[in-house]
Amino acid sequence: MKRRQLLTGLGAGTLFSGASLSARAQTQQRFNWRLVTTWPPNFPIFQETVRRFADDVKRMSGGRLNIQAFAGGELVPALQTFDAVSQGTVEMGHGAAYYWAGKIPAAQFFTAVPFGMNAQGMNAWLYSGGGLELWREVYAPHGLVPFPMGNTGVQMAGWFRKRIESLADLKGLKMRIPGLGGKVIARAGVNPVLLAGSEIYTALERGTVDAAEWVGPFHDLRLGLYRAARHYYYPGWQEPGPVMEMIINKRAWESLPEDLQRIVETAAQASNVLMLAEFETRNIEALETLKTRYKVEVLALPTDVIAELRRLTQLTLEEEAKSDPIFKKVWEHQRAFMQTNDAWGRISEIAYARTRA
Ligand code: CA
Repeated sequence: MKRRQLLTGLGAGTLFSGASLSARAQTQQRFNWRLVTTWPPNFPIFQETVRRFADDVKRMSGGRLNIQAFAGGELVPALQTFDAVSQGTVEMGHGAAYYWAGKIPAAQFFTAVPFGMNAQGMNAWLYSGGGLELWREVYAPHGLVPFPMGNTGVQMAGWFRKRIESLADLKGLKMRIPGLGGKVIARAGVNPVLLAGSEIYTALERGTVDAAEWVGPFHDLRLGLYRAARHYYYPGWQEPGPVMEMIINKRAWESLPEDLQRIVETAAQASNVLMLAEFETRNIEALETLKTRYKVEVLALPTDVIAELRRLTQLTLEEEAKSDPIFKKVWEHQRAFMQTNDAWGRISEIAYARTRA
């Protein structure tokens, strides 16, 4: 190895000018970066995506960019990921933009909002419709460069201890449901409760909450939620295609040579596709297990409940937009895209899906 490096070095010295030499020295520079995540240790699919991303980058860069990944709490607490990357304590982070809604309410549009777009629509908006540029603009004051990196696909509406047959059945329920979904369903008379993933099972089992949404069949099965509630409702109106984010400290990003930047960007795009593929496959298998082995009742939310939640979503977003011009700007941008995306979808994806249903 040493001999080969020496020979390469000699070759460079004899063949290239001084300017090329310094460029070459730059391209040989090694970077050791740390990536913190909001995910618990060994949280399946999420942590696997992050590990594979780090491995891809290392191999594609010939070991010039080494990324060491940490689970939430290992290096910094999960929900300090944003601050740790923003302040440059670490170079990178992986999580979901809606976790930062307390700092940047508009960040929610870059993950998911109720009755927003699915994964395909979000990818179209972010990569081709100006969404990512807008996301970078919103994060710039925080010294962060965001990238889409993963998607869960449409989630489930959640587990309910009792059947939901009308809007009246929602009134007074306590439900684990975070974010905007929680704000919307509160208007329908539900008391939204915030619980970490690890607390959901016990709360539902003991009846501290009457209902809970988590992710989808694969993660919900692992958490054993079918033992605490028997009715599993769809669709996940509250999170139709949540985008996971990778954030990079802006100064760290700018210190990377262009080829390494391209490697990071391309590896993130690949991870974005692969995570969704994993979710689609594992959710199908898990749903089958829930239905056949555990006899879970898989039910659609009644149409009048969906219609009302949709109406309440509109009111909630309008109210949020009134008090925050950035929220308003991002919402208007996304909404305009979504309207054209829906119009196209009606004669493409939706029309086609009907031919198969
Ligand atoms: Ca969820």
